[in-house]
Order: sequence, then structure tokens, then C-alpha cells
Amino acid sequence: MSECLFCRIIAKEIPAKIEYEDKELVVIQDINPQAPVHLLVISKKHVAGTQDMDAQDRLLLGEMVFRAKELARQRKLEEGYRLVLNNGAKAGQSVFHIHLHFLAGRKMNWPPG
Ligand code: 5GP
Ligand code: ZN
Repeated sequence: MSECLFCRIIAKEIPAKIEYEDKELVVIQDINPQAPVHLLVISKKHVAGTQDMDAQDRLLLGEMVFRAKELARQRKLEEGYRLVLNNGAKAGQSVFHIHLHFLAGRKMNWPPG
């Protein structure tokens, strides 16, 4: 059994509110939402973070951003949404399995904290 939280969610060993799933990705609701809409676009392939990407994973990141765009379109959130990739503990990454935060439904501030 994997030790990785998101691998376990992908394997359905840990429950999550799944919003979308295909061969490469799963989209879940964040357990601790930081905006009215806070989804996590998660790669099914375990890659710890951008620093661990191999050449093929470039395409995976494209899939993740494209999925975010589709989520925004389907939910009529195109007016503004924020995509966040925390890379490394110092940047706020707490789950070391690559995922894109999709945040929307409120005014976002800049610079982020
Ligand atoms: P990170 O801090 O690595 O960028 O993001 C990890 C995210 O995963 C956090 O926003 C956190 O709230 C979320 N998270 C942590 N544990 C769980 C869980 O068990 N289920 C779900 N759905 N989200 C989780
Ligand atoms: Zn994993």
C-alpha cells in the first residue's frame, strides 16, 4: 500500500469528493478550502513535484492546466480563477504528489502570502 496520501485517494483507499476523473487525472475538492471553489487537479502518475518531472511529464502538466480551463468553462468561472502549484516545503507544499490548486469564487489578492 502506498504511503502517499494522493496515491491512496486515487486508489480509492481514502475517500474524497471526486469532481472529475480520466485516465491521467483526478479532480477532488480540497478538504480545507481556501476559496468558495477549491479543487485539486491531481496527476494519477506519482510525481513528487515539478522538480521531479521527467521530459514526458511536460505533457501531463499541460493536461492539468487544460483540465482547469475546462472546469472554469463548465462552472462559468472564467471571469477569474487562480491556479497554484506549490513547489517544496518552503513554498507551502504539504503533499508531495504533484497537484494544481484551482481556486475561484472570490477576489484573489496579489502578491499571494
Ligand atoms: P499543498 O499544500 O501540498 O500545495 O496542497 C495540499 C492540499 O491538500 C491542501 O490544500 C490540503 O488542504 C489538501 N488535503 C490534505 N489532505 C487532504 C485529504 O485527505 N483530502 C483532501 N480532499 N484534501 C486534502
Ligand atoms: Zn502519490
